[in-house]
Amino acid sequence: MATRAAVKFLPFHVPCIEEGDINAVVAVLRSGWITTGRKVVEFENAFAEFLGVRHAIAVSSCTAALHLALDAIGLEENDEVLLPTLTFTATAEVVTYFRARPILIDCEPGQFTIDPAAVEAKLTRRSRAVIPVHLAGHPCLMADIRDIAHANALTVIEDAAHAFPAKYANQYIGTLSPMTAFSFYATKTLTTGEGGMITTEDDVLASRIRLMRLHGMNADAWKRYTATGSWRYDVAEAGYKYNLTDLQAALGLTQLAKAVAMWQRRAEIVVTYERALGNIDAYETLPCEPGVEHAWHLYVILIRSECLRIGRDEVIKELRERGIGTAVHFIPLHLHSYYQKRWGYRPGQFPVAEGYFNRCISLPLYPTMGNEDVELVIEALEDIAKRFRR
Ligand SMILES: *Cc1c(COP(=O)(O)O)cnc(C)c1O
Repeated sequence: MATRAAVKFLPFHVPCIEEGDINAVVAVLRSGWITTGRKVVEFENAFAEFLGVRHAIAVSSCTAALHLALDAIGLEENDEVLLPTLTFTATAEVVTYFRARPILIDCEPGQFTIDPAAVEAKLTRRSRAVIPVHLAGHPCLMADIRDIAHANALTVIEDAAHAFPAKYANQYIGTLSPMTAFSFYATKTLTTGEGGMITTEDDVLASRIRLMRLHGMNADAWKRYTATGSWRYDVAEAGYKYNLTDLQAALGLTQLAKAVAMWQRRAEIVVTYERALGNIDAYETLPCEPGVEHAWHLYVILIRSECLRIGRDEVIKELRERGIGTAVHFIPLHLHSYYQKRWGYRPGQFPVAEGYFNRCISLPLYPTMGNEDVELVIEALEDIAKRFRR
């Protein structure tokens, strides 16, 4: 076992890039048009069609998508946006772009997504929006969040960086709320290297996002270098440089074409993990709740310290020594120095999120993992559970 690390290492994540993906990008390189153009439009249309949503607007990242979504609702200085402390900093940092306040919220104890009751408890006259994060790819308690939002004139902007493809009440995530932001970062379930998408049913929001995505220039400004486009354009606002390129969109299209197959393989790996690890008392697993479809972006186990003599950090170290890469999602925002310094958050404030953070490990989960890779992870965890049993 211990010698295996020197021979081979199973990375936490490897993107699923095959010949078809590579050829599609090379074809764009050969085409003479490498930035935003036809491929981006094609990718937006295919993504919208996949989800069954009116608008899908491609952008350079999920962070850009969240920024543009907050711009589209006209967020102002001192406004408040409620979001989980258990997320990546991008979810909250975009709020500070407006000199608005990120209001951190603890998570519920089931799937550790944002706790609707805690959202309700933190509402003020300045509350403008709530950003639920579908942690690991498991949909949040959207009915409760929607009810609270309706009753209090909040806009729901979903951070679906982990949630493609996932379903809530038989509808794809991306079709439920006024706006949903997706990530195509290298480690996500669909990747364009860097990239993102905003989905919405609302024509007014969509046109504002399209305008601000590329310098505040009118929508088809990219066409000004084509035979059919015009050189004349108007700058209507001071916008951003958040466009996706055709190089990225070409990759997005080939990834999208195999998104269901990739999801099926991840789901198959999860069944194997669940069957093996669900019975080991050293680990708690988080099976999908009935009535929703999990994107299975992450497969998370929680260490049960009643049963194991070593903690989360040591388990990660033991896995590393056995040639297995893992990750931790996430260090809650209120434990980071910036959120403490600037917003006065402090350790101990969000016990459910902290309890989760202290115990969580994300295991390798991606479609190119072989069955022997999955077995390697399971055997290592079985061995650790046996060796360090309390
Ligand atoms: C990855 C991630 C983001 C940011 O995505 P980018 O495309 O890298 O900007 C936002 N929120 C969550 C929860 C993420 O995991």
